[in-house]
Amino acid sequence: MKIKVLDNILKANNKIADANRELFIKNGNFVINLMSAPGSGKTTLIEQTHKSLDSALKIGVVEGDIETSRDAERLDRLGIPVIQLNTGHECHLDANMVSTALPHIDLAAIDILFIENVGNLVCPAEFIIGEDAKVMILSVTEGDEKPLKYPLMFHESKVCLINKIDLIEHTNFNLEEAKSNAKSVSPHINLMPVSATTGKGFDVWVDWLKSSFEKEIKSRKEN
Ligand code: MG
Ligand code: ZN
Repeated sequence: MKIKVLDNILKANNKIADANRELFIKNGNFVINLMSAPGSGKTTLIEQTHKSLDSALKIGVVEGDIETSRDAERLDRLGIPVIQLNTGHECHLDANMVSTALPHIDLAAIDILFIENVGNLVCPAEFIIGEDAKVMILSVTEGDEKPLKYPLMFHESKVCLINKIDLIEHTNFNLEEAKSNAKSVSPHINLMPVSATTGKGFDVWVDWLKSSFEKEIKSRKEN
């Protein structure tokens, strides 16, 4: 007899993800599962998003890291409600880990909850955690071939922010090549070149956030 271990793990995960989602719906949260390789700028992106939203929408963060609370401390200094999850040795967040963080954050006071996943381009894409959308970051220092090497993450993401665009002239990253590689594995992905350090391109990203939030909340009311 063969037992499909991964199937069973994902089934159990999805049940908890549904419970997380119920809580998000009850509290009016639009939830983003933010994924990327280590060092692509996830935390900096959240900082700049907070700044660019300029209190139009309130954000909160569940910060996933293998070790340390450095990222959470950065966000806490900006007055962003944040809970740090240390996964120990796990290279991704699953729905159960996220569920343990939720009682410690005032969801009712938040519009958009960012769940910053562990830096890793592989397994974070395999787990749903109750989110409305997966969003990923590809930075220009990583190379334009990444969509072809890690297709699942691009395929699962609604938005791919192409970050560190301010550094592009110091790299051999070809923006058009990156875009066409991303579209080849994920035809409907929204590609947004940005710089999380300077705020360049954030008007497009913030518009997407605002309209996605409004659309989702409206559709929940209609159901
Ligand atoms: Mg981080
Ligand atoms: Zn993993």
